[in-house]
Amino acid sequence: MDNKNLNKKAGITRRQMLRILGAGAASYGLFGASSKAFSKSAAHIVIVGGGIGGAAAAKYLRLLNADVKITIVEPKSQYIFCPGSNEVLPGWVTLEDLMVTYSTLKSRYHINVIHDKAATIDYDKKQLKLEKGDILSYHKLIVSPGPTHNYEAIDGFNDTLAEGDFPSAYTAGRQTMNLHNQLFSMKKGGTVIISSPEDPYRCPPAPYERASYITAMLKENNPTAKVLILDSKNDFIFSNVYPVYWKDRFGYGTDQSMIEWVPRKDGGQVVKLDATNHSVITADGHVHKGDVINIIPPEKAGQFALQNDLSEGDWCPVDFLDFSSFKQDHVYVIGDSVDGDPMPKTGYIASNQARVVAQAINDELHGREVGTPFIINDCVAMAGKDYGMALSETFRYAGKGKKLGEHYHILGPESNKAKQIIRQQVAENWQRTFRKDIFE
Ligand SMILES: Cc1cc2nc3c(=O)[nH]c(=O)nc-3n(C[C@H](O)[C@H](O)[C@H](O)COP(=O)(O)OP(=O)(O)OC[C@H]3O[C@@H](n4cnc5c(N)ncnc54)[C@H](O)[C@@H]3O)c2cc1C
Repeated sequence: MDNKNLNKKAGITRRQMLRILGAGAASYGLFGASSKAFSKSAAHIVIVGGGIGGAAAAKYLRLLNADVKITIVEPKSQYIFCPGSNEVLPGWVTLEDLMVTYSTLKSRYHINVIHDKAATIDYDKKQLKLEKGDILSYHKLIVSPGPTHNYEAIDGFNDTLAEGDFPSAYTAGRQTMNLHNQLFSMKKGGTVIISSPEDPYRCPPAPYERASYITAMLKENNPTAKVLILDSKNDFIFSNVYPVYWKDRFGYGTDQSMIEWVPRKDGGQVVKLDATNHSVITADGHVHKGDVINIIPPEKAGQFALQNDLSEGDWCPVDFLDFSSFKQDHVYVIGDSVDGDPMPKTGYIASNQARVVAQAINDELHGREVGTPFIINDCVAMAGKDYGMALSETFRYAGKGKKLGEHYHILGPESNKAKQIIRQQVAENWQRTFRKDIFE
């Protein structure tokens, strides 16, 4: 990067930035004098994807640097948060409650947002070509396109079926509403099948959170119905808590249980969808007929990353120091597309990675050594409207090409009802704060 550009103050005016950050910023000497518009020589940071990772990177970078030009490329004009989207299924919230626009990022943070799809990258020229034909030159490119839902990994399944009778609803949107409608119109005493994928996939507790909410809704509206979780894993996060909740509320472990969990070792791995007969088939050959079938397919990195040589195998390898790609110079990958084990693929983590990359780019632009990152995941989840849970994780940089060091603590089941509710309220309020943190 040409560090000289940094001193050419070009971006938001000092007054505008002070309005964003409050008067305190002035006393910290964050900004020098700025001219009225971004100069041609201002560093241009282009971001592919305006979801949690991309939007957070744009905002955090702006908070650190008034002068860079920041452009997000995102096809949709509204973003619907996945955190909270399981609550749409029992009708506790609406998709509109989870919807945000880019207007504050544009007006308050002076971030360009181009509603188009990024297509290809010319790494030699440092140019990004968009689907409609525009070409953007970048100094640094941040890529956060989310995951690809690999429907075809399940024999007989594909994205057309997912958009139709067999919604996966694992990116919030039309499929979420479709699944909601199917659940409410299911016949009395019907069976809902949820197929949970192998790791890694976004939001590891979400299939179990989903199963819990659906069962709670059915208990009220269709109490003879059943929820069957067929799992491609033998264990899952919060498996110390969810079954305790299920036992307490739905009779889990008894013949009358409304909910059942089948691990991989007992035949839980779904390998095929028989759409005609409304059934799934597991690796051991069992056929399970479902009235509502919700297959959460395995995932891999976003198509854009896969098609632009940023991946090795299914995921994108990066240096966790700054999330720079191991495959291409001046490119950073964050969010669900990253080969980030042991970091889970969550919005909380994506936003933390965004902080790391924003800090690293800003340090580099100022000619400073990039500091050692420390990533945290304060994950909260819910089992119902009156029961929450939490885990805390930290990830420490262990050197280039090395796995991050991990420490974590999961809270156990809570028998005190008041504390269960407090944990639920913490989780619910986290969602609201998180949405504001990124888009406001
Ligand atoms: C049901 C559910 C519940 C969840 N709950 C939680 C939770 O409680 N807490 C939590 O932390 N996480 C949760 N998550 C996970 C969280 O949503 C993801 O981990 C997070 O969204 C990842 O951020 P991202 O930027 O990688 O992807 P996304 O947020 O999906 O953003 C990717 C963006 O890239 C855009 N894009 C894709 N391709 C292109 C292209 N070629 N050009 C331009 N733009 C492109 C997409 O349109 C999208 O807007 C949940 C997920 C699900 C499914």
